[in-house]
Amino acid sequence: MTTSKRQLAMVMDLNKCLGCHTCTVACKQLWTRDDGMQHMWFNTVNTMPGEGTPRGWEHMGGGFDASGEALPGKLPSKQQFGEAWKFNHEEAYYGGKGQASHLAIKGKSPTWGPNWDEDQGAGTFPNSYYFYLPRICNHCTHPACLEACPRKAIEKREDNGIVLVNENRCRGYRYCQEACPYKKIYYNEMRGVSQKCIFCFPRIDKGVTTACSRQCPGRLRFVGYLDDPAGAIHKLVHEYKVALPLHPEHGTQPNVFYVPPLSPEEYDADGNLTGKMRIPLEYLESLFGKSVGAALETIKKERERSRRGEKSELMDLLIARDWIKLFGPFDRDPRTVEQVDPPA
Ligand code: SF4
Ligand code: SF4
Repeated sequence: MTTSKRQLAMVMDLNKCLGCHTCTVACKQLWTRDDGMQHMWFNTVNTMPGEGTPRGWEHMGGGFDASGEALPGKLPSKQQFGEAWKFNHEEAYYGGKGQASHLAIKGKSPTWGPNWDEDQGAGTFPNSYYFYLPRICNHCTHPACLEACPRKAIEKREDNGIVLVNENRCRGYRYCQEACPYKKIYYNEMRGVSQKCIFCFPRIDKGVTTACSRQCPGRLRFVGYLDDPAGAIHKLVHEYKVALPLHPEHGTQPNVFYVPPLSPEEYDADGNLTGKMRIPLEYLESLFGKSVGAALETIKKERERSRRGEKSELMDLLIARDWIKLFGPFDRDPRTVEQVDPPA
């Protein structure tokens, strides 16, 4: 197992995600605009329940069993990731046909894309439900990708636990893609290397939080060190235990944690409220493990306390009125970095 002196982490409060994809676009603009990266989305936001991206990733194996032995995993196909679509921009915008031409996909019709089943969710009206699940690489404490690489091309930074692909060492074998149970590694066919979320380390190294967290209008992404007892991340994960890793059963010990979603009450056949949450607890347990029920109860209890006008540290943390505090020590304005330290 790889150990780091400290571990950076992210907490995302799923009760606040709008599904707006600002995070996805902020990341795309910064990191995946080069040739060969068109299909890459280091940050994705999928509707749950849903197939996600790559399609069916939750059933592709990888990770470790309870004794720490690596489990076989599948390599997602290009179609499961969803290839970059080409639109008839030229014709629609400059072809002079006006409304007779609309923005259509050029070439073969796609059968899947990163947000194909957006907002579909599950359940039957009036008890239908869905929520958004933003995902990045989990920068795991026990990274399956790192262990699977015969070239030792994947490193876990000692100072902060960020997991990075050394592209000079990578030969594109893609064992990392098979091994990662979250399927958060992409393959660059043009360069023959694997690529993934880098937790914005060039920003982090200068005290600036990740682009996805800084740009998020829902203000739901906390960034900081897991071992900082005064930080929000430590409080949410270790003290209040309301932030949980996704699919902990894969044994990689993810360092991205989620505050699970509350949901409205379910109606019975006569239209009366039943007191049961509309998102089935069993479904949330399948994502976040058995402690999700206790986490939801803690949130509800603290919410009631806050509604009674009593002080609730947990609610104050989650509401995050002072948004810059979401980022702990990484609160530097990115504009000041450009002014002070221009890129070489
Ligand atoms: Fe590696 Fe996947 Fe964990 Fe990221 S989420 S560190 S790619 S195993
Ligand atoms: Fe959700 Fe924030 Fe991403 Fe919008 S920017 S989809 S609110 S995580």
